[in-house]
Amino acid sequence: MPDVIACPDPTCGAPANIVDRWTWGSTDGPVEHVKTGCERGHWFTPTVDSLSPQPAAPGARPHPTRAVALPAPA
Ligand SMILES: [Zn+2]
Repeated sequence: MPDVIACPDPTCGAPANIVDRWTWGSTDGPVEHVKTGCERGHWFTPTVDSLSPQPAAPGARPHPTRAVALPAPA
């Protein structure tokens, strides 16, 4: 996990610093959380599992949609 990731806000995508990390217990076992603050002032405390382990890439779309071409149903 890098110290700088893309902002978890899918409409933002600015570089966000991981300023804290901790683990909470749950019924499924410990869950690791991080606290991120992006340069646009968004603060999130997502779980590590919810983050895509990609470093921030300014200009890149943080959540590219996968276009899947399926044949139309007959
Ligand atoms: Zn942001």
